[in-house]
Amino acid sequence: MYVRETAAFTLAAALLMQAAPAGARTLLLHANGITLNSAGQRQAFASMVIGDDGRIVQVLTAADPAPAPLPGDRVIDAAGRTVLPGLIDAHGHVEALGRQAQTLDLAGTKNLAEAQAEIRRYAAAHPALPWIVGSGWNQVVWQLDRFPTAAELDAAVRDRPVWLTRVDGHAGWANSAALVLAGVTAATNDPPGGHIDRTAAGGPAGVLVASVGLTGVGDAGIDAEAWHIYERLAGSGKLTARVFAMALGLDAQERISYSPIDWEHDDHLSMLTVKYFADGALGSHGAWLKAPYTDDPTNSGLPFHTDAEMKHLVYAAAQRGFQVAIHAIADAANAQALDAFAALGAGAPMGLRHRIEHAQVLDAADLPRFAALNIIASMQPTHATSDMAMAVTRLGTARLAYAYAWHSMIASGAHFAAGSDFPVEPPNPFFGIHAGVTRQSRDNLPPGGWYPAEALTIDQAFAAFTSWAAYANRAEKFSGTLEAGKWADFVIVDRDPFAIPPADLWKVKVQETWVGGSKVFP
Ligand SMILES: [Zn+2]
Repeated sequence: MYVRETAAFTLAAALLMQAAPAGARTLLLHANGITLNSAGQRQAFASMVIGDDGRIVQVLTAADPAPAPLPGDRVIDAAGRTVLPGLIDAHGHVEALGRQAQTLDLAGTKNLAEAQAEIRRYAAAHPALPWIVGSGWNQVVWQLDRFPTAAELDAAVRDRPVWLTRVDGHAGWANSAALVLAGVTAATNDPPGGHIDRTAAGGPAGVLVASVGLTGVGDAGIDAEAWHIYERLAGSGKLTARVFAMALGLDAQERISYSPIDWEHDDHLSMLTVKYFADGALGSHGAWLKAPYTDDPTNSGLPFHTDAEMKHLVYAAAQRGFQVAIHAIADAANAQALDAFAALGAGAPMGLRHRIEHAQVLDAADLPRFAALNIIASMQPTHATSDMAMAVTRLGTARLAYAYAWHSMIASGAHFAAGSDFPVEPPNPFFGIHAGVTRQSRDNLPPGGWYPAEALTIDQAFAAFTSWAAYANRAEKFSGTLEAGKWADFVIVDRDPFAIPPADLWKVKVQETWVGGSKVFP
């Protein structure tokens, strides 16, 4: 319940609480607080009472008398700063983010020569590493028009094997030493001998997500080993965000658990979902289109599964009670995923909240099927602003009418949730809110925004990274808004995103992140 009643009610509630034994409450005072309420409307608040269990007891407006501290209470003085619900990323890759923090990151490189210099510098700085492992390169950003070659990587590092995955994780770049050692395929797994300590990767990732204000994350595809790491972290109170884990395929699901694992460890961890891939990515021509690529007229990309296989996979997971999340980038893949959900028949799709991840390029005929089948569109605003130049090259302009079509999706009545797909994009949710509202890069390009009719309002973008993402992650009962009874998951930020020019939304800095009434950042 959102407390917005009369002062008399508040006083009565305050008296009741004073009559109760004083636990170690936490009072958040003097906040420029903004949350959505259970009706989805934006709601201002000034103070919040948090119980010693980490759950919200009361959320009070400026019109209400501020709660008076009792002996033993902890007081957080927000001093007029903006307080928001903890942000939720519906789709990221936590372990990969941690890995990226421990490996060579080429995401900022603007051309091949700059990347080669960075690789050379990194290799020189890490003489003991038997393998140089990294990611983040993008030949499109480099304006290369082709994949980089082994020889070009040899020019940077010759003495050791080097394995670098493309920004989307769907292509690899090896040098000759790596190719000689063989076994290296265009898979996203560790190269032989290139194994990175996975437990260690969890630590930096947790800090990285909390530092940008994420208190909840959908981890879009984990294996059993990652699940056991999560279990250990959650069991020892070390998970600093609520992780909605999705098993990567039926095999991982069976190894983790035959049946769904509802939120446990004080709602820090769940495994309610099986994730599948319907296609690859647009950048590497791997996304599966109904008609050929504009810049490769003999190629329409490739499906990962036949229609019959996809129907079987969706059915198998759903009949075990799992939500199904299907990675589908291009229109043919989205149509296949929707067909597979439709084949489940009425009823099942409603209860389990099936999702399509990315839903980037849609056929006009398929867009309304999300709402009709009650499928959640789990989309990533920063993909549009990172992809816009490449998408025009790959698709031409006609097919962009229903590409990254957030407004059309919401207007159609479909459930919508936002994420970043980190580490493909930075995990900062304010980058996503900015891209969602402006359809512009953080350099304010293009002027007026890219297909601005598909922009989100600030309220939609905020909801998409809070309450709507919570819904997609089946976590709305205890997170996504600041309301009595939910966990006190909130952030204190350096400016009010609802009061600044949209172009500045990406500049919002998180000063503190709190999860379940405990500070996890800084
Ligand atoms: Zn992903």
